[in-house]
Amino acid sequence: MMSQYSVEVKRDTTVLSMNKDKTLVAVNSYDGVFQVKGKSVIFAAGCREKPMGYKNILGHRSAGITTAVSVLKYVNRKGVMPGREYLILGSGDTAILTARSLVLEGAKVKGIIESSSKIHAVREESKEYLKDFNIPVLLNHRVVDVYGEERVEGAKVVQVDNHRNFMEGTEQYITCDTLVLSINLYPENLLGAKIGMEINEETGELVVSEGMETSLEGFFACGTVINGYDVIENVLNQGKVAGTSAAAYVRNNN
Ligand SMILES: Cc1cc2nc3c(=O)[nH]c(=O)nc-3n(C[C@H](O)[C@H](O)[C@H](O)COP(=O)(O)OP(=O)(O)OC[C@H]3O[C@@H](n4cnc5c(N)ncnc54)[C@H](O)[C@@H]3O)c2cc1C
Repeated sequence: MMSQYSVEVKRDTTVLSMNKDKTLVAVNSYDGVFQVKGKSVIFAAGCREKPMGYKNILGHRSAGITTAVSVLKYVNRKGVMPGREYLILGSGDTAILTARSLVLEGAKVKGIIESSSKIHAVREESKEYLKDFNIPVLLNHRVVDVYGEERVEGAKVVQVDNHRNFMEGTEQYITCDTLVLSINLYPENLLGAKIGMEINEETGELVVSEGMETSLEGFFACGTVINGYDVIENVLNQGKVAGTSAAAYVRNNN
């Protein structure tokens, strides 16, 4: 499809920086470091998972602590099981999808731990997976400590009340060799922020107009780089708008 429209694609290439004059500095193993200058730029760098540091969990940073998308990559793409017994933190769609993949591959999912009183998944089939694959969910629970020095051996889980205060006498120790974090996604907007793209301080979202233009003229954005998570239908629609607007910008500024 790209070749049909004469779009050159640089694979395995990382953009290191963007400049306000629309020059991008990028690197790959076949061109080395190079620059490319556009008449407009579409920023679509997606989002990334929050790591362990975002949660106040005690314990060693031992092997066996990973994120849900990493697990999916290992299991589905590389055919490797990162562990045998899993505890999953978070109950969004990605967490449940990960639990299902693990069960299908023969692993034991000891539980999904969710600190609020409801499951966060928005897709109906995610809730079905919980039933169909007998995946236990502990709502109103938090992981407070991880045990194991070389490798995770288990975690301490505590029940919390509606104000997220720990409830005395509810601690339980769950054995597992892998703790999977699926705690949130945040937008990969640093390259834009560095050159002054406006980010809403309250929501952390990239500020865009109806035409998906950012606060910097000629820079457009689409997808999860804006808000950290969205379903593919919305991302595709935003992409169409951003593409159309960027093309109009180039035409009008020639
Ligand atoms: C595990 C998982 C399962 C999902 N399942 C579904 C589903 O079933 N249905 C659904 O509708 N949605 C699903 N989603 C959401 C869907 O994947 C996203 O909405 C969509 O992929 C977002 O598209 P995007 O282009 O904004 O970001 P991405 O698809 O993340 O693409 C961003 C791209 O930018 C690249 N990039 C980032 N920084 C740089 C840089 N500096 N230089 C060069 N390249 C860079 C990244 O490598 C990546 O390839 C799922 C998401 C996850 C994480």
